[in-house]
Amino acid sequence: MKQTALFIILSILVSCSTKNNNNLLTSKKTKIVIAHRGASAYLPEHTLEAKAMAYAMGVDYLEQDLVLSKDNIPIVIHDIHLETVTDVAEIFPERARDDGKFYVIDFTFEELKSLSVFERFNPKTKKAVFSNRFPLKKSSFKLHSLSEEIEMIQGLNKSTGKDIGIYPEIKEPAFHRKEGKDLSKIALSVLSNYGYQKRTDNCFVQCFDIEETKRIRFELKSDLKLIQLLGGDYSEDKFYEIAKYADGIGPWFGTIIKGKTNGEFVITDLVKNAHKQGLLVHPFTYRADDYPEYYESFNELLEVGFFTADFDGVFTDFPDKAVEFLKNRKQ
Ligand code: CA
Repeated sequence: MKQTALFIILSILVSCSTKNNNNLLTSKKTKIVIAHRGASAYLPEHTLEAKAMAYAMGVDYLEQDLVLSKDNIPIVIHDIHLETVTDVAEIFPERARDDGKFYVIDFTFEELKSLSVFERFNPKTKKAVFSNRFPLKKSSFKLHSLSEEIEMIQGLNKSTGKDIGIYPEIKEPAFHRKEGKDLSKIALSVLSNYGYQKRTDNCFVQCFDIEETKRIRFELKSDLKLIQLLGGDYSEDKFYEIAKYADGIGPWFGTIIKGKTNGEFVITDLVKNAHKQGLLVHPFTYRADDYPEYYESFNELLEVGFFTADFDGVFTDFPDKAVEFLKNRKQ
């Protein structure tokens, strides 16, 4: 009897997960919040502290931008160079390249670990990019690897009983290749080692480089959910092609909500056209301290994006505000 009951439960579980897998758009929870570089409005971006805070805020996914170290370890950092978020210019002043920049790829993991991480700043003016965020050069933060971040998230999943996902981005694959390194291959292998292998696993892989995203699907044969990030110059007729290898797109929200005319928001057909191809739409980047002046409030930005334009998720520096908005909106 017990075995029969167990079998029925297992069958239900399997059929549910298959249903979701068939079409991500029809899965139960379509509106998701992705912590952009962690809770980056409150703590220096891409630090483990910023990720833990975002996790506690109740996000669905945490983002990791990935760049390789000299010894081929995927590091969680937004730029391929270091001087905008660390003290590298003071610790290793002689290690800049001819362009004056300090490249992550020129440093070993151990060297990178010796750097301090700060709130993002302009290395020329030494001023913070967002002046009202975490104070510059305060407290103590470090760089970390993809493995270290996954272990923290999976650890939190265990200790809280939640199942929060990861959302890694392959940064500048062409640059890595020019340096003789295959970032996608190495990153996928780390992901695989931690159990992220299939579309049903709680992971989206994102990339701006169209050829590389295709390569991840077809040549590297990854079955993970893929998001094609889109820069300024894309045309919607590409969506049919994108749907052949990706599960969704990540455009800038300003390419969908174009502004306001006579009190009405001007919204393109982009989301409708993407949905027609079965593609999820996860636009970037929602910032409560930086949005166009024709929105009355950050909540209006969230309302228009999620419900008028029908976004399936947003990347945000303010995960608490987006989570809170969705919670209240559903009631
Ligand atoms: Ca990113």
